[in-house]
Amino acid sequence: MPDAAVRTTVTHLADGRELIYFDRPGAPDRGGYRDPRPLGPRPGTGESRLDPLLGEWVTIAANRQVRPYHPGPDVCPLCPSTATRHSEIPAPGYEVAVFENAFPSLSGPPEPPDELIGPLPQRLRRGGGRCEVVAFTADHNAMFATLDEDRAGLILAAWTDRTAALLALPGVEQVYVFENAGEEIGVTLSHPHGQIYAFPYLAPKLARIAERATDHLARTGRSLHDDVLAAELAAGRVVCENAEWVAFVSFAARWPYEAHLYPRRRVPDFTALDDAQRAAFPGAYLNLLRRFQRLFGADGPPVPYIAAWHQAPAGAPQAVALHVEVFTVRRAPGKLKYLAGTESGMGAFMNDIAPEEAAARLREVGA
Ligand SMILES: [Zn+2]
Repeated sequence: MPDAAVRTTVTHLADGRELIYFDRPGAPDRGGYRDPRPLGPRPGTGESRLDPLLGEWVTIAANRQVRPYHPGPDVCPLCPSTATRHSEIPAPGYEVAVFENAFPSLSGPPEPPDELIGPLPQRLRRGGGRCEVVAFTADHNAMFATLDEDRAGLILAAWTDRTAALLALPGVEQVYVFENAGEEIGVTLSHPHGQIYAFPYLAPKLARIAERATDHLARTGRSLHDDVLAAELAAGRVVCENAEWVAFVSFAARWPYEAHLYPRRRVPDFTALDDAQRAAFPGAYLNLLRRFQRLFGADGPPVPYIAAWHQAPAGAPQAVALHVEVFTVRRAPGKLKYLAGTESGMGAFMNDIAPEEAAARLREVGA
């Protein structure tokens, strides 16, 4: 569904990667800027292996070891190019830009038949998927929470466009939109940006949710996500809401501060949001992100967070409802939650802040 209020300009970088500008109509033309960098060949296709014990795919992306680490602001690959300094974005300015990651974990055409290795269910697949970077603004020093509503709406339009395009690629089973923000999360670039992974398999967490939701539907005739949202609306852990969106701390939150934002009317993915939901999204999402930034005092360093968008798998719109889970690894000023023996070793989370207390705190820091 092309959005009349969004202008897309599709271009290519020197090594053939796609770069798409998303602008409001009336912005300067972006299409005439060539990428003059002498880029080498793109890294080879990676592979994914199925863990025989867990039945979960693990992607082996050894080609990523050479990626840049903390380049200073004068060599930021997401700042617009100038006459003397060429970044990933050849234009001298942009609003939102999406391009294929130079060091993708997932890439290449899928090679269909999985190989079965030995007597165990050890399977291997090569290629498939795509990794994209979404630059939210040309302003190196901004963060999502400081963007205005118009820009948040343009980013939503970009996520929507890319979800439709990536779901249409052969072999793609899940489109995962996410943002890692803050050094404590291991972000190698401080320029405000997010990422999109088009997986050639279902990520373990989404696979589990899809299985649970499918089972719930078969047993009760109802959507698991609808039931979760109804229960949360009654439970007192709502953080903020507007006419179309609701954010709450979930019943069994894993992280010290973790909020889930749902549209009130269930949709499978970004492409199914209606105009009212789109119009109300920026207010709801910015409200939530700004609360996270105020959690430990307004004057402290930026609060690191992960924003993880769940979307229905390709071809299974009933299985998962679109929502975003936002959580921080900071549990107190200067203190981080590390994933240790129970979480990393067994996948068993231990959260020392009650979800009810976290919800009260997120409400109290008002937007
Ligand atoms: Zn930058």
